[in-house]
Amino acid sequence: MTESRLILVPSAADGTTGIPVSTIRGERPGPVLALIAGNHGYEYPPILALQRLRAQLDPAALAGTIIMVHVANMPSFLGRTVYFSPVDGKNLNRVYPGNAGGTISERIAHAITTEVIERADYVLDLHCGDGNESLRPYVYQAVTLDARIDAANARLALAFGIDHILIDRNRPTDPARSLYCSTTAITRGKPALVVESGLMGQSDELSIECIVNGVRGVMRELEMTAGGPAPLEDPTYLDPSAVVSSPATGNLYPLVERDQLVEKGQALVRITDFFGAVLAEVPSPLAGKVLYVVATPPIVQGQPVACVGTPRKLDRGCR
Ligand SMILES: [Zn+2]
Repeated sequence: MTESRLILVPSAADGTTGIPVSTIRGERPGPVLALIAGNHGYEYPPILALQRLRAQLDPAALAGTIIMVHVANMPSFLGRTVYFSPVDGKNLNRVYPGNAGGTISERIAHAITTEVIERADYVLDLHCGDGNESLRPYVYQAVTLDARIDAANARLALAFGIDHILIDRNRPTDPARSLYCSTTAITRGKPALVVESGLMGQSDELSIECIVNGVRGVMRELEMTAGGPAPLEDPTYLDPSAVVSSPATGNLYPLVERDQLVEKGQALVRITDFFGAVLAEVPSPLAGKVLYVVATPPIVQGQPVACVGTPRKLDRGCR
């Protein structure tokens, strides 16, 4: 059975909104897998991938339940904003687990935490490069202090099938201040992955199908479906990695491309003031691969300009 519903976010001084959710209940028992798109409303391939999956999934061939959040951040989606809500100026993916009495982004986060994440066994938080980010596909595999979660996260990452896996060691551990959607799941004992596929406000077929196939791989791995792509065998793990922030506000000029290998110290972007004088060239703190680089002119001091990860081959001794 496939159900559609709108989670109504409680009204307050800054208004209200709805979160469209599909629930696909398989005919056989199995885990609950939550698929969350649109925490960032300008990131379209995840949203379009869930439209496609909803039409394709057959409850008769499914064990367990899929909960799909089609557009988590409706104000940002309809308002076409990068990173921040047009209503309260907050980044939804920095205010989890949310607050029922807070501003609209905090109320959205609270609704998703209580109505989706707390009802799921596994969570995939689906993203891409935002409207300003030129990105090559990768997933974040969070490393925690919990061996069970770590093993499950590693399995999910291989099952998703994107060949670049960033080992992510720096997420919050307090469930009351989880900040991110995926960390909200992990701090509640549920394995979760962050997926990045797509870039620059585009809706390209390759980025969409990459997500559709990835979800199918995870469903197969969790034995929710009989078929689906096999897990990846030889990924590139990126560890360590760094998000590089801008030291200045101004115009940004990218000096590297997504997927490019860079040396430690190599300039990633140039920032000028609004009269053209160079304020800074921002160096890479490590040698590695450019996972994303900001590629549109506006830049604000403290915002990210790029993410770089150092490739390493897996130590197979533990497998
Ligand atoms: Zn995002």
